[in-house]
Amino acid sequence: MPKASHPSSRPFHHPQPEVPLYCGEVSLEALTRRFGTPLYVYSADQIVERLQMFKDALAGRDSLVCYAVKANSALAILKLLANRGAGFDIVSGGELERVLAAAPEAAERVVFSGVGKTAEEIDRALQAGILAFNVESEAELQLLAKHAAKLKRVARFALRVNPDVFAETHPYISTGLREHKFGIDIRQAAALYEGAAGNRWLEPHGVSVHIGSQIRSAEPFGAALDRVYKLVKQLAKKGIAIHSIDAGGGLGIDYHAGKSDPAARVREYAAAVDKALAGFEGKLLLEPGRFLVAQAGALVTRVLNVKQNGRKTFVIVDAAMNDLIRPALYQAHHEIVPVRPREGRQKTVDVVGPVCESGDFFARDRKLAPIEAGDLIALLDAGAYGMAQASNYNTRVRPAEVLVEGKKARLIRRRETIADLLAPEIL
Ligand SMILES: *Cc1c(COP(=O)(O)O)cnc(C)c1O
Repeated sequence: MPKASHPSSRPFHHPQPEVPLYCGEVSLEALTRRFGTPLYVYSADQIVERLQMFKDALAGRDSLVCYAVKANSALAILKLLANRGAGFDIVSGGELERVLAAAPEAAERVVFSGVGKTAEEIDRALQAGILAFNVESEAELQLLAKHAAKLKRVARFALRVNPDVFAETHPYISTGLREHKFGIDIRQAAALYEGAAGNRWLEPHGVSVHIGSQIRSAEPFGAALDRVYKLVKQLAKKGIAIHSIDAGGGLGIDYHAGKSDPAARVREYAAAVDKALAGFEGKLLLEPGRFLVAQAGALVTRVLNVKQNGRKTFVIVDAAMNDLIRPALYQAHHEIVPVRPREGRQKTVDVVGPVCESGDFFARDRKLAPIEAGDLIALLDAGAYGMAQASNYNTRVRPAEVLVEGKKARLIRRRETIADLLAPEIL
């Protein structure tokens, strides 16, 4: 039987060699009997533990962790984090509605990022009284000023600057170079703050930056914040007081079952931030997404059949790229663990879904223990950008989601039905 207290830093584990895979203290086999497959399973304990790592590493500073909702926007996860004091980084009006539905009291801890905010989204966020808008262009600052004046509400804003710092990651998720669509050239930011200074509806609250995602080294974060702090000092000389610096998200995780210690990674990150911002007395905002939720989640799927095509062996599972698109979109690696491992020699296989695309794969030429039709396997580290990017491609219903807290597991999203999918359509 599983031990009473398993360290949540590795929530998916075999309690003993002969026992099938567990999430914390809950058997994945039992969960699939109750809720079917494919099934997303998340460890609440690990999400809470990760949030605490940031709080501990930044204990000496006035700081606020604003979880990046886009990584995993399940209402139950938003509520879990809000209850522990987290704020939120949103990138759409839809994400604002999620925060308001899950934890209305957290509206004052919301920052609104994104390159293309609409007038309606701005109005709704002003009415909700969010903490700050991370503004990404001069035109957006003008739009914000106009709507703040219309609603007679002062808009706190930060300019999201583009520091022109290169961060080693996948090109689709690198955002901090001048050639990217994100942010305002840091060399033009001071003039925009000065221009806004005379507007009674705009309050220059902070400076924000976000250089990309899945960044494995602390160095580029430090380099970006060096540049941000220089700007803050330059603004202070001109009489513009900046109350907060928002360092964005982007801290990466180890997708390869490595031995990397997440708490040490956060401390290293916090040290780079601290060094760059030595002397800054204002509030530090952080927007981690992936780091908080990725390793807390797995996608559990059942093997439909195993087929041989020429020299290749394909393990065909009931999950597909519509449920977890990261391998197809970012060439991402996910560890694959059989829920009930079989004895025997490892075999090199491709693990694929049923969708009609050759891009529908979870692993290629992967060495795995023997697998047979009917087996369950878990795709690890699927808690971030998994369900959040799921679609109904091939008219497939999206998976159910389960949250495990200690000994308890509860359904936080029921499996979609075909009726759900057809409902908005008109014949
Ligand atoms: C996506 C995003 C984040 C979160 O990035 P992670 O890599 O998941 O930590 C934070 N801030 C902004 C502005 C983002 O677009």
